[in-house]
Amino acid sequence: MQSSSMNLDRGANVRFPRILGHESIGVVESIGEHVDGFKQGDVVLPVFHPHCEECRDCKSSKSNWCTRFAEDYFSNTRRYGMASRFKDFLGEDIHHFLFVSSFSEYTVIDIAHLVKISREVSVDKATLLSCGVSTGIGAAWKVANVEEGSTIAVFGLGAVGLAVVEGARLRGAAKIIGVDINPDKFEIGKKFGITEFVNPSMCGEKKISEVVKEMTEGGVDYSFVCVGLNSSISEAFTSTRTGTGKTVVMGIDKYSDSCGSLFKKGA
Ligand SMILES: [Zn+2]
Repeated sequence: MQSSSMNLDRGANVRFPRILGHESIGVVESIGEHVDGFKQGDVVLPVFHPHCEECRDCKSSKSNWCTRFAEDYFSNTRRYGMASRFKDFLGEDIHHFLFVSSFSEYTVIDIAHLVKISREVSVDKATLLSCGVSTGIGAAWKVANVEEGSTIAVFGLGAVGLAVVEGARLRGAAKIIGVDINPDKFEIGKKFGITEFVNPSMCGEKKISEVVKEMTEGGVDYSFVCVGLNSSISEAFTSTRTGTGKTVVMGIDKYSDSCGSLFKKGA
């Protein structure tokens, strides 16, 4: 399971009011002092995951968990002492969200959270690369490094889950099992590469993991969790092959202290 030091403690860090939004595309309108590498008019993708380009993890080919900045995802700007760059009409702080705050016409973003892209790319499609599609495809392609002929189970077929399917198909997975309580997702999933489908509400007395193990003679090589439920994480983990299976978790349970611990332990 993927390891991280992501701080999921919502307690004192959840401050409001806050400008939400983390998936978007934009054009650089102005640049602060001492900022290199970007210029006015650049088309940029904001990404909440930082990349300082200097720390051990940013330089590593195995990790993208920036150890310099990836601590508190609910804080404001970290490079400059956690100050908020947004104020209301009374001069009070409005807090950032995931360092991007894209539900606004203008925002302020540290360059550690910006990726410059070509003007040739269609912006309505490129915005999906700001989180959902890159998260899903990256999980299959980079984190799991799915090999040709592998067996896969994807729990949750929303935007991220379907992108995992896309990534697994591109890497040549032989069997891709989609798991979702919405039966319509089977037909949608087929367009991305799902070969088989499991609806948990149709499994009767059997656990999903039992069904997946029966379908794969002992479990999948890789399972991916794209649902924010601890029970799904547990079932996905149990669905993998004993000894060699790998589970990649993208969904985070909203009440999950245990999930936070799980991430911190790198289980
Ligand atoms: Zn870094």
